[in-house]
Amino acid sequence: MGKLDSYDNFGVEKMTKAEHAEKQEKVLAVCKCKGCPSYVEGDNPSGAYCFPLIGTSKAIQWEKDCICGTCPVYKEYELDHNHYCTRCSQFCQSLQTLSADSGAGN
Ligand code: SF4
Ligand code: SF4
Repeated sequence: MGKLDSYDNFGVEKMTKAEHAEKQEKVLAVCKCKGCPSYVEGDNPSGAYCFPLIGTSKAIQWEKDCICGTCPVYKEYELDHNHYCTRCSQFCQSLQTLSADSGAGN
C-alpha cells in the first residue's frame, strides 16, 4: 500500500460514483457540525467537510471550536485533523502535512 493510499481514510479510491455519493450521505447523516460553535446556519453543504470532494464551507469563516473529535465518523475512519470546514478534507490536510514535512529538509 502506498503512502497516499494510507491517507484515503474513507476508501474512496475504490468506490464507484454511486458508492461515493451514498457514503457521503451517510457521513452527512451522522455529522455533528450543526451543533458546533463554528457552524453557520444554512450552509450548503451542511457538514461532512471531512469527506473528500465535498469542499470547504462557503459560510464558515471563523474557527471557534471544532467538535469533530466527538463525531462517530471521526472515530470510525480514524481521522486525525480538524476544522475541515475551513481548512479542507481529511485527505487534503494529510497531503498538506506531507508536503510541509517533505519540504522541511530542503
Ligand atoms: S468528523 Fe467533523 S466534519 Fe466529519 S462528519 Fe464528523 S463532525 Fe462532520
Ligand atoms: S468541521 Fe469542525 S469546526 Fe467545522 S463545523 Fe464541523 S465540527 Fe465545527
